[in-house]
Amino acid sequence: MEAFSNQTTQILSNYTSYTLKKIMKNIRNPASKKQDMIRSIIFYLSNPENEPNFSYVFPKELLNDLAIILPDKNIKCICDKTSGNNLIFCRTCNKKQHISCMGSLSMLKFYECTSCMIIKMNPADEVLDFLVSPYMIGQQIIRKSFNYTESLKNEVFSNKSNIEIQFRCIKIQKPGYCMSWPNKAELYINNMSIRKFKQSSFISKKNDIDLGLITAIKIGINEIWMTKDSDNDDYALAVVKVRKLTNEEILQKMSKVFILKDKSIEFIKAKFSDDNEIKSCSIRLNLKCPYTLRIINIPVRGKDCSHLSCFDLKIFIDIQKYENYSWKCPICKKLAYEVYIDKYFEEILNGCKNIDKLEGIQLKDDGSYDEIYFEDEDNSLKRKCDENEHPNKKLKKDSEYVFIKDSQPSRQCVIIIDD
Ligand SMILES: [Zn+2]
Ligand SMILES: [Zn+2]
Ligand SMILES: [Zn+2]
Repeated sequence: MEAFSNQTTQILSNYTSYTLKKIMKNIRNPASKKQDMIRSIIFYLSNPENEPNFSYVFPKELLNDLAIILPDKNIKCICDKTSGNNLIFCRTCNKKQHISCMGSLSMLKFYECTSCMIIKMNPADEVLDFLVSPYMIGQQIIRKSFNYTESLKNEVFSNKSNIEIQFRCIKIQKPGYCMSWPNKAELYINNMSIRKFKQSSFISKKNDIDLGLITAIKIGINEIWMTKDSDNDDYALAVVKVRKLTNEEILQKMSKVFILKDKSIEFIKAKFSDDNEIKSCSIRLNLKCPYTLRIINIPVRGKDCSHLSCFDLKIFIDIQKYENYSWKCPICKKLAYEVYIDKYFEEILNGCKNIDKLEGIQLKDDGSYDEIYFEDEDNSLKRKCDENEHPNKKLKKDSEYVFIKDSQPSRQCVIIIDD
């Protein structure tokens, strides 16, 4: 409190008596000597009940100056401080964080706080609750505690509930949204070391840690902390209660977002008209899942993907358990924990004459297309020769195209990669 009043006195002293008198009028206080006015204002500021009135009692400039010391319940930052300036708004939960704490993550085009990132980072596990909100793992060791109740334990050990308590950690550096543990660190619960992280252990760096099965955890209050060395980056660590979803549930959850046909056609036209993108008036587009090489069923792209090609949502979900739930787009490798269905591509697939023989489409710059079907071996060979004669006729010179083997060994098909 003393520090608060000293700092506030310092700030208020910079303002004229005229400004302070106006504030006194707003708070209906008769004091008129500068010192008395400052004392009254400090008293007014320290009452949390007055907080909702701050914005019309005080001039904006003064409020900005006071932001360094005034608690703000909308600030929820990994540093645990509830005051300060130079803040950034999370676009999902509307809470504010210090730009200095969020490092390069604050520069993301669509900025979200670490809590929101941790919620989204693995669509396979639905975050129900934060037992420990994300907090900064920096140079200082900070101890945090959470209550592991009997009923929570029962949930964890029940076969039906699919509840897990997990440690999750992200680096305060782009890209965020994925599990990342420090290079050299040790994690403790109740004075017991439960995990050591080494530079080389790639697998454990990528995984969340299931806490329910760890013997160090006990009913009641549990204390956690992490030591970190030889790693200058900062991290945010959290303990979450999650429900593990079935693949059908994940599919339902992830198939809610889509773009309609007209928007998709706009996107296609933009790709053709952009000078740096496609340089011909039509391109051959593969409609096969990059994993199974079968025709796509639910065509999706990641939220951040900028390519025309789609991948199959169901296969993408099925494959995650073999890919450490990394949710990386199989085409451009960007994070794709949020995807959208392309309704135009869905219509193309649903409307095609013979889905079993469909290979892809020749997509034109106005968004229209021709279906491409498996040809018989002779034609296929002939086509290959044609392409060899004029290798640049259809394909760009640079590495925009990647060849992947088709299911028939003598043939190749094309998928398009944007960087
Ligand atoms: Zn902060
Ligand atoms: Zn948020
Ligand atoms: Zn992509």
